[in-house]
Amino acid sequence: MNKKGVLVVFSGFSGSGKGTIMKKLMENHSDTYALSVSATTRSPREGEREGIEYFFKTVPEFEELIKNDEMLEYAQYAGNYYGTPKAYVEQKLNEGFDVILEIETQGALKVKEKYPDTLLLFVTPPSADILYDRLKGRGTEEDDVIAKRMNQAVNEAKVIDRYDYLVINDDINECVSHVHEIIKNTHDRTVFKADTIEALKNGLNKYQRRD
Ligand code: 5GP
Repeated sequence: MNKKGVLVVFSGFSGSGKGTIMKKLMENHSDTYALSVSATTRSPREGEREGIEYFFKTVPEFEELIKNDEMLEYAQYAGNYYGTPKAYVEQKLNEGFDVILEIETQGALKVKEKYPDTLLLFVTPPSADILYDRLKGRGTEEDDVIAKRMNQAVNEAKVIDRYDYLVINDDINECVSHVHEIIKNTHDRTVFKADTIEALKNGLNKYQRRD
C-alpha cells in the first residue's frame, strides 16, 4: 500500500452530521483531500447525480465489479450493495491526497483488515438522546424510519471500539477542525515516514565510528 496519502474511513450514525462534516472538510481543504464516490445498487434520491453522490449500478453490474476485483470493499446495507471503487482511491493516494471513504461499519472494518494503516474515525452526537432529537428535528422522517435508524445505531455502536478515534459532533465547525487535526497528525506516524527515516539512517551512517 502506498504511503504518500492517508486512507481515512469516516463512519457515524445516521443523524451524526457526518455528511456535513465531510462537505465542510472538502470545502476547506480541497487541496489535501479527495472524497471517494461509492457505487451502490440503491435508487437515486431526489437531487442525487450520477458520479457525484454515487455511481448508480444494477445488481448484475455491481456483481461484475466485485468479480473483476474492482472494489476495495463492499457491503450490503438496508438491502442494497454499497462499495468503494478501487482505482480512484489508489490513484489519489499515489498523487499524495488523503482519501476519505464515508462508509458504514462492516466496510470500514474490512478496509482496516486489508490495509492496517487506514485511519478509522467514528463520529457521534454527544449522546443517544441528542441523536434522537436531531433525527426527530429534521422533521422529514416518519416515526418508523427514525426507529429503524436508532436500531441501526445500536448495532453500529457495537463496533465503535474497533475504530481509532471517536469524534463528538457538538459544534460542527469545531468538529471539522478536530477531524482535520487528527488526519494531519496521522502523517507523523512512522509508517508514513519511511522515506524520512531512510534518509535519516543514511545521514547518520557517515558519523558512525567503527572502532
Ligand atoms: P445512504 O443510502 O444513506 O446514502 O447510505 C447508507 C449507508 O451506506 C451510509 O452509512 C453510508 O456511509 C454507507 N456507504 C456509502 N457508500 C459506501 C461504500 O462504498 N461502502 C460501504 N461499505 N458503505 C457505504
